[in-house]
Amino acid sequence: MSHSGEQHQRPGHYGYVGFATLPNQVHRKTVKKGFTFTLIVAGESGLGKSTLINSLFLTDLYKDRKVLNAEERISRTVAIIKHTVGIEEKGVKLRLTIIDTPGFGDAVNNTESWRHIDDYIDQQFEQYFRDESGLNRRNIQDNRVHCCLYFISPFGHGLRPLDVDCMRALHEKVNIIPVLAKADSLTPAEVCRKKMKEIKQFGINIYQFPECDSDEDEDFKTQEQILKNSIPFAVIGSNVQVESKGRKFRGRVYPWGVVEVENPAHSDFLLLRNMLVRTHMQDLKDVTREIHYENYRAQCIQNMTRMVVLERKRRWVELRKMQEVLERIQEQMQHSHRSGC
Ligand code: GDP
Repeated sequence: MSHSGEQHQRPGHYGYVGFATLPNQVHRKTVKKGFTFTLIVAGESGLGKSTLINSLFLTDLYKDRKVLNAEERISRTVAIIKHTVGIEEKGVKLRLTIIDTPGFGDAVNNTESWRHIDDYIDQQFEQYFRDESGLNRRNIQDNRVHCCLYFISPFGHGLRPLDVDCMRALHEKVNIIPVLAKADSLTPAEVCRKKMKEIKQFGINIYQFPECDSDEDEDFKTQEQILKNSIPFAVIGSNVQVESKGRKFRGRVYPWGVVEVENPAHSDFLLLRNMLVRTHMQDLKDVTREIHYENYRAQCIQNMTRMVVLERKRRWVELRKMQEVLERIQEQMQHSHRSGC
């Protein structure tokens, strides 16, 4: 058998037990089970959320969507709409759930318009907490939200109060990834300016990319650094295929030229998709489970313990009162006995 630094034994060699196949066993089992990922999209309507989701996952998740007019939108509160789609690639199945929040930021008064998103995330944690504390823990459906793509408007002067309030309200519960919407409407210098440290300045804790181990190769480290520097990702979405110079691609055609969604010179779309799907999906799920859900769970247990202590205290006070009444009755009886009544 080999220890680190010693010679490795090959299959068929003396001393080969076979635990080197463990990763394959895990791989087979997880592939069979399939994967799930839940993403919430937030940001005011018209910022290109549905277009970007369709472009990211090459699906049409919003076929039945009805876009409301201004009058209908004024009175409407934020809705939570769940779209689920099963996608498969090379035998790997992914059940993707997108939680949409139509109406976000549409009302005249938008204070606390993020409250519905906040409640939704909590409800999923609560459901999971109940399920895993219940009797049948085998087939728990995990609907916890793994990531929130928060769309920042490219117009105006940076973050709006609603953006700051919303991200601050959610940052301890979900991995927030901010994106700068409709980046094709900005010049490179404007993109650069909008990426400045505003998010940190407001004390918003967005999703932190895991630190690279020192033994990782240089390419990987550079890639990770590029990702960190790109936040918020400046993105472009499109639902149409464009044909130009003999090539077909997702893009947007303007009188002055064509923007390619997947061209790194035009936007950070590819960076975002690679990060979300190819490199960090598992980490987003791990952080949800190990940090956000654990915090929720610890809080729940703390509240439950506090309630038990309060209940005990209440019962003790009641008991004490009853004891006092009994003592008083006893005293009265003794008194009347002594006075011979
Ligand atoms: P949602 O309400 O946030 O889901 O926004 P939609 O995806 O429905 O997009 C609203 C409008 O913006 C549509 O007319 C889209 O064609 C357009 N749009 C979507 N993405 C982009 C983009 O990246 N750049 C530009 N310029 N327009 C976009």
